Amino acid sequence: MFFKRKPITLCRACRENAKLAVVGKVSPTHPGPFHTSEFELIHCPRCDSVYLSPAPTDDDLRVLYEESVQFADDHYTSEEQVERILDYYRGAVRHRRLLPGSQARVLEVGAGYAWVSRASKDSDSSCHTVAQDVSGECAEKCDWVDQYHVGSLDTLPTDEKFDLASMTHVIEHLVDPEAMLGAISRRLKPGGKLFVTAPYRPTGWKPNMGIDAWKNYSYLHVPAHVTYFSRKWFDQVAPRHGMQVVHWDARHEDGQAFELVLQRRS
Ligand SMILES: [Zn+2]
Repeated sequence: MFFKRKPITLCRACRENAKLAVVGKVSPTHPGPFHTSEFELIHCPRCDSVYLSPAPTDDDLRVLYEESVQFADDHYTSEEQVERILDYYRGAVRHRRLLPGSQARVLEVGAGYAWVSRASKDSDSSCHTVAQDVSGECAEKCDWVDQYHVGSLDTLPTDEKFDLASMTHVIEHLVDPEAMLGAISRRLKPGGKLFVTAPYRPTGWKPNMGIDAWKNYSYLHVPAHVTYFSRKWFDQVAPRHGMQVVHWDARHEDGQAFELVLQRRS
């Protein structure tokens, strides 16, 4: 007798064996050209994340990030919008107690306009802010950053350890997010925190609900957004790098985005 079973395969997100399920097909939401126009979303029941398959190639990433300007529209620059965004980050710094005391060292990864650095300076002007981004697009526009490093995180020329690191709407773009968690953890002081925000999933979506809700999800960016994370994924993966979840809130933007704080072991 043969029974049809779903194959057990390796989850690209949590790197464990799981009965992966295809949520459905998705097409590029960005003009391209990419190495394929046929992508799927995969759900892993073990880490409860949803990821894009195949992952974007290095050439795809070049098309996405080097051949286009990311921050051109006034979404990020109108005065009202700036105030609204800053308000959110100031609240996060305060309510999540992200700065441990005066002269805190802050590292903002994939910084762009460096909102967390700006909110940190507003909250406590004695803090020291370091921003890192592979693009130099915003580097000259961020007075509140003490050191703006243009290049990958591993080329940041300092061994100093930080009290706070942040990745806001960055981790979903990474093909190897776990490697980045490890790299950031190594730059944190014992007890230091990592603040993360990212897209979560369409409002109310559950794994048995299929692909339809994803098609109208404003954060479905194919192939720019590689993984849509869950609390389970962080609970599983962060301890491998000496960190644990101390705050998780997936109610943002009507349940479409999450906010997370990881803390490095003391
Ligand atoms: Zn998984």
